Amino acid sequence: MEFAVDIQDLTYRWPGNADFSLNIARWQIEAGKKVFLYGQSGSGKSTLLNLLSAVMPAKQGKLCVLGQDLTSLAAAQRDAFRANNIGMIFQQFNLLPFLSGRQNIELATLFGAKTRLAKLENISTITDKLGLSAAVLKQQANQMSVGQQQRIAIARALLLQPPLIIADEPTSALDSDLRDEFIQFLIANSPNSTVIFVSHDRSLAPHFDQSFDLFELQRRGVAVC
Ligand code: ADP
Ligand code: MG
Repeated sequence: MEFAVDIQDLTYRWPGNADFSLNIARWQIEAGKKVFLYGQSGSGKSTLLNLLSAVMPAKQGKLCVLGQDLTSLAAAQRDAFRANNIGMIFQQFNLLPFLSGRQNIELATLFGAKTRLAKLENISTITDKLGLSAAVLKQQANQMSVGQQQRIAIARALLLQPPLIIADEPTSALDSDLRDEFIQFLIANSPNSTVIFVSHDRSLAPHFDQSFDLFELQRRGVAVC
């Protein structure tokens, strides 16, 4: 079986913070699965996602993402790995306010390998699917409705058809209609990708193939040790 994520004995502590540690003895995510990860505020969800997306280096344990052992990569290699393989969506969408919708989507191509630029033709395919009009693509991000911003953020994350999509509480600022729409858009438009969607709202779990509780994941770890 092919795993998008394969973790063993992963431990992470923030420098200077003795109160928190992340400890996962084993966690595997099958490639292509749409996965929900629940955790209370402060439980370590963003910390774990930062490790999975190679924003921060994992120094202890095994952390394999898309078959790549992230613990062996230098900083520049981690950046290249992320740009080429991972689509990220954040809580506030992280759009650049004075860029247009199209420019915000194109940011996905800035850091990846050059060959990926060929995929720019995907812009119209993905924006059509998401119902993003030419007018919205021209509009500055800070003049868009929240619903338009969320679609731009999804389009940016999906543009290069990354094998892994990581979403860190992207719906917590949305009302319930937009929340459901967001998840449906994301899942419907990433048929070949593994999706890891994180939230403190358990009610979102039924949208996904599998769900995990970060607290339970860590407890399981303690039991195994
Ligand atoms: P969540 O995303 O589930 O709300 P986080 O991963 O952001 O949780 O935080 C988990 C713990 O790590 C918290 O106790 C938080 O205070 C701590 N933490 C987060 N970022 C840092 C940092 N840069 N330096 C030190 N501690 C941090
Ligand atoms: Mg967080």
